[in-house]
Amino acid sequence: MEERSWQQLLSHTVDTPQALLECLDLPNSLLEGAETGSQLFPLKVPQPFIDKMEKGNPDDPLLKQVLPLAAEAATVPGFVSDPLNESESNPLDGLIHKYNGRVLLILSGACAVNCRYCFRREFPYSSNRLGSEQWDAILNYLKADHSIHEVIFSGGDPLATSDTRLQRMLSDLEAIPHLRRLRIHTRLPVVIPQRITTELASILGGTRFQTAMVLHANHPNEIDGLLGDAVNRLKQQGITVLNQAVLLKGINDDLNTLVALSESLFQYGILPYYLFTLDPVKGAAHFDLPDEAAIQLHQQLQAKLPGYLVPKLAREIPDRPSKTLLA
Ligand SMILES: *Cc1c(COP(=O)(O)O)cnc(C)c1O
Ligand code: SF4
Repeated sequence: MEERSWQQLLSHTVDTPQALLECLDLPNSLLEGAETGSQLFPLKVPQPFIDKMEKGNPDDPLLKQVLPLAAEAATVPGFVSDPLNESESNPLDGLIHKYNGRVLLILSGACAVNCRYCFRREFPYSSNRLGSEQWDAILNYLKADHSIHEVIFSGGDPLATSDTRLQRMLSDLEAIPHLRRLRIHTRLPVVIPQRITTELASILGGTRFQTAMVLHANHPNEIDGLLGDAVNRLKQQGITVLNQAVLLKGINDDLNTLVALSESLFQYGILPYYLFTLDPVKGAAHFDLPDEAAIQLHQQLQAKLPGYLVPKLAREIPDRPSKTLLA
């Protein structure tokens, strides 16, 4: 098969329930629920991620992260549209400043994949587009606040942005002397490893910043040699590569899976950073796990693995000065 570029892979995602079920040989009985769920939050999955799923298995742990369900339509008390209350710390379009010393920039509303558990399924992206006016306002905000040392590119997925635009933004940021660190939060290398071209790696690694990339993989099946190659290109540029995962019922809520996740991450040079409990966003309640279960799993993980392979179990509680550790 001819190799497709990341741009092609990104623009030709599978985006209907019918097409997803067909390419995985899954039964039509899943269609009705998938149609219902996809009306609330569209289905979207890139081919390289589908390639890591097992055909004919409706319980595949990667499939379950992306297949819409009728259960998403349920109203569950406590599961809301803006669980992180981000609209409160959103002083400018595209900028969230909650924690000391670091700001999060929403570079792109688009993701390469739509994860059913994501709190951003309800985020008002359309009003957070970064045009040149908004970008100038952000630069002025950063220039004026000398306590900010780190800029976090987030989204959506920041790597859905073109290399040219990333490069332009980075050089604008480099001109602000008190900025020292750059962080990129992205799931793209996991779902389309082809995105990490040698060029992109050298753009991201070629600044004066100390740079980290935080990937997002939840299950060991998401990690393979293609991702490993991408990580190598980043590491050759001196970029530190970390991973954050979300604890998801029916996907990675058992000890063996979490052990295998940490071990495969490290095998490819990635360090586990956070294991987040689910944000209580409307439509995702069926992924939720009680805190006691999460804490118990984390303790078991600690008993099994070296400390550097145990991610911090945390959650985001609005109005706190950092993520909140559960254990
Ligand atoms: C999670 C988050 C960060 C980063 O937190 P760390 O603990 O440094 O990883 C920064 N800003 C916002 C708004 C966040 O939600
Ligand atoms: S922001 Fe991350 S978790 Fe949410 S849909 Fe995009 S890739 Fe998935």
